[in-house]
Amino acid sequence: MLIGVLAVQGAFIEHEKALEELGATVKEIRQVDDLEGIDGIVLPGGESTVQGKLLKQLGIFDPLQQLIQNGLPVLATCAGLILLAEELLNDTRTHLRTLPITVKRNAYGRQLASFQSQLTVGNFTDFPAIFIRGPYIEKVAPDVKVLATVDDHAVAVEYKNQIGLAFHPELSQDRRIHRYFLDKVANRLSH
Ligand code: GLN
Repeated sequence: MLIGVLAVQGAFIEHEKALEELGATVKEIRQVDDLEGIDGIVLPGGESTVQGKLLKQLGIFDPLQQLIQNGLPVLATCAGLILLAEELLNDTRTHLRTLPITVKRNAYGRQLASFQSQLTVGNFTDFPAIFIRGPYIEKVAPDVKVLATVDDHAVAVEYKNQIGLAFHPELSQDRRIHRYFLDKVANRLSH
């Protein structure tokens, strides 16, 4: 199984380690040709504005959007989630817009900007969710599944081939979400 990890900016190394630990082969996506042959993709945390710009400059933006629309499984964390969101509450720039949710960037006030919380994420209880200047999800379309919430705001969602998280599973040792994503990729390959 070949998993692309967008590696233009941000916290991509930790995702690579997590995926490799679980037996996946990882390919760093730094230019458009790197998209060739991948079975799934991870969009890491970092700075969504910078990532969005780089995707455009590098010519990755349109082909990536197309691949996701065509069903390529994607695991997006934090800035990655912002890249996928159809609408941003406090930013006029939107990016790939493949996930029908409204996201608020830097949603937790300065004091609470970074925190850790044990969350139930879908079927996984006590998931150590690490938030770093994270967004939250303000609104979801009816067919988007909410997997986790913090103070009544969705912080993890699943919609068809897309999993979006406001926190950083790659920064903990808990691999259940990465495993879940790889299972989704494997499932698509077997059909
Ligand atoms: N604050 C960043 C943004 O708005 C996201 C933070 C992160 O990815 N940890 O893009």
